Amino acid sequence: MTARTRPALRPRTGRRAAAALVLLAGCLALQPGAQAATQAVTSAAPAAAVPDLDREVLAAGDGWAAEGAGTTGGSAADDAHVFTVRNRAQLAAALDGGSSVPKIIRVAGTIDANTDDRGRALDCEDYATDGYGLPAYLAAYDPRTWGAAKPSGPQEEARKASAARQAERVELLVGSNTTLLGLGRGAVLKGASLQVRDADNVIVRNLELRDAYDCFPVWQPNTGGLGDWKTAYDTLWLRGATHVWVDHVTASDKGHPDEKEPTHFGRNYLRHDGLLDITNGSDLVTVSWSRFQGHDKAMLIGNGDGVTTDRGKLRVTLHHNEFDAVVQRAPRVRFGQVHLYNNRYVVPEGAAYRYSIGVSTESRTVAENNAFTAPGHIEVADLLKSWNGSALAQSGNEFNGFPVDLLAIYNAYNSGSERDLTADVGWTPTLHGPVDSAARAAADVARGAGAGRAG
Ligand code: CA
Repeated sequence: MTARTRPALRPRTGRRAAAALVLLAGCLALQPGAQAATQAVTSAAPAAAVPDLDREVLAAGDGWAAEGAGTTGGSAADDAHVFTVRNRAQLAAALDGGSSVPKIIRVAGTIDANTDDRGRALDCEDYATDGYGLPAYLAAYDPRTWGAAKPSGPQEEARKASAARQAERVELLVGSNTTLLGLGRGAVLKGASLQVRDADNVIVRNLELRDAYDCFPVWQPNTGGLGDWKTAYDTLWLRGATHVWVDHVTASDKGHPDEKEPTHFGRNYLRHDGLLDITNGSDLVTVSWSRFQGHDKAMLIGNGDGVTTDRGKLRVTLHHNEFDAVVQRAPRVRFGQVHLYNNRYVVPEGAAYRYSIGVSTESRTVAENNAFTAPGHIEVADLLKSWNGSALAQSGNEFNGFPVDLLAIYNAYNSGSERDLTADVGWTPTLHGPVDSAARAAADVARGAGAGRAG
């Protein structure tokens, strides 16, 4: 532990580190001959207050992921399942197709998912097959000649075949009982779509996830009235995932910002989908001390008004995260009980912006003590957006340093145009750490959130 990293740790240590130490000491005590090790751990505190990140588990009470058995990731891995990986092939081998064997995977340096098994970089042209080409695709499905039907025929078939080749490289399954973490300050996973699918007990920490770039967006003529480009990859997608702790992750489009992409058919040719999407029965998730940067649709919790199987699920805690230059979905919620506290929102001057917190079908978000900073043309009423939503509880939030009642302002601003949101979400968060003032949290988050700051 260097002196340099300690200040960044201070905001989140306290209870969590203490609880982790207790758990760690408990685990060690179960093993024969562990007496000396236990003493070593206890006597080392507080001088070395933070144990090795590898086997650290979510502290008791730290958000929804602490419910029930809590979230321990791969902390029970035997020595044969602790991996340090430096390239895509090693990472894929360690992930083992999403197996549930307890495992700890440490990412060292930068790994690019768009590489072949020998480590050679692959670009979009390497994936393109069956005659796919963007000019031919655009010529085939130009709305002026093709109309509003879903693309079909040779170019769409070729796009699908090409996309499948990219997916085979960039989609990486993270199975149950896994801890995936970055080593030190420079761990980066580029171009990957990490997917926790129908899995339980996963920790992702201290890792920069960058640029899940889709080479082959599909044209959807009937999306949003004007049509839109649909992309395939979230940097991290939880689908049917339970007990997941995402901590000190930085997720962005760094390398290929969508705002630099051209316009085709009058719409931005998007390359990225979500940064962290939580869908299809996912439940009991804590996202802490992470940064979501420079992106359009950051975080979708619940992906369809008709996905009623999500009722009672999608319970997510978001605390001490930063949403910086995010256009929308920070998050957008359907069905879930989401506790959103002590997060920092920054809209830079000149950045595109639509809204921060989306209130959709049956969502029950509690937004406490968050800090929003935005330029003058953005108003408090812009921070929320409702589609068929009904409830949002809020308190202690600040906008440009002033206390604001998000709900009252939203309802006043939208009076007459749609029904009011109520403050009655029907639940009260109980699993959380100390809730600081918005101003205090914003300062702590600015200093301590993101990859490379967890140890
Ligand atoms: Ca998505």
